[in-house]
Amino acid sequence: MERYESVVGRLKETCNHRTIPSDTVGSELVDLSTNDYLGLGSRADLRREFLERVGVDGLPPFTSSASRLLASSQRYYDELEALLADAYGSSALLFNSGYHANTGAISSLADERTLIVADKLVHASIIDGMRLSGASMERFRHNDVNHLERILSRKAGSFDRVLIVTESVFSMDGDKAPLDDIVQVKSRYGQALLYVDEAHAFGVEGPHGLGLCASMPEVDFIVGTLGKAGASVGAFIVCSPLCRDYLLNRARSFIFSTAIPPLNCAWSVFIIEKILAMDDGRARLRRLGQQLARITGASSGHIQPLVTGSAESAVALSSRLLEHGFKVLPIRTPTVPPGTERLRFSLSLDVTEADLERLSAIDLT
Ligand code: PMP
Repeated sequence: MERYESVVGRLKETCNHRTIPSDTVGSELVDLSTNDYLGLGSRADLRREFLERVGVDGLPPFTSSASRLLASSQRYYDELEALLADAYGSSALLFNSGYHANTGAISSLADERTLIVADKLVHASIIDGMRLSGASMERFRHNDVNHLERILSRKAGSFDRVLIVTESVFSMDGDKAPLDDIVQVKSRYGQALLYVDEAHAFGVEGPHGLGLCASMPEVDFIVGTLGKAGASVGAFIVCSPLCRDYLLNRARSFIFSTAIPPLNCAWSVFIIEKILAMDDGRARLRRLGQQLARITGASSGHIQPLVTGSAESAVALSSRLLEHGFKVLPIRTPTVPPGTERLRFSLSLDVTEADLERLSAIDLT
């Protein structure tokens, strides 16, 4: 107990102590911390439409009661995977969350004979997957393809395979990976595979919102999560049929965890059909991004960091914005490297041009 007390105490002293924020649903606050980029999660009309469509008698089960490999009701998972496979022109495997997808897939795809080379800023779930794999790990400087190439030219020859891992839109910085250049580098190493996490791109970027890799056959594994713009829960990996078969036989997070309820899969199908048709919404989100960039000074995506440089300053600015009616939560270590503590502004279609106009009148220094 003493150790736990001292850890919590130190977090409090250094302004790094986290608490669960209070419920703000129904408040007047403008939420600039959400991952519900398309605003679909807050749409009561969509929930009603979904329930009317399935009907009380047709409601899918609220539990799977087992791992996917043992569950009796498979229809809703199959429908969701078929929709994704059709949209991406490949096969798809569902996971319970993005965290399950990354930890389960990476740890099963890589072993001691594998070199994983990952961008310095990849998400914690990817790092945990790498650690679980027992593979050799190298990190390349954020979005620095020359550094990636240098690592590969020095080390790849000593391994049976190489797994290059990045995000397409980075969760805390909102910038995009140089995917074309990464694909070029990959093509020079015959044993290299490319794994891209599109958690923050799915729904928002690319053709029909399918992400930045949707038309890149050189990407071997695309991870999409359904709990952000997808307004649902779960995640999927798009890959070849062989890799899908491998993952469902080897990814421990897939095999040993109760599958998400069929109800959520049916909702995901309903929502994805909406997302595919939301080009106008995506265009509006881009315009909001341009408006927000004039305030933050960041580049104009749906995620924009305002680096304050310390936990104290991030917390103070967040509190000040809250007083003005804006929810922008501080992001501290270990989510971001020390010295890059920040506010992470994220946009949703629930935000209006007038909200951002009001934000622009606040001194953010
Ligand atoms: N990958 C990235 C890049 C993420 O930002 C997140 C969620 N923060 C995840 C994976 C995990 O997804 P989930 O929340 O579905 O577990």
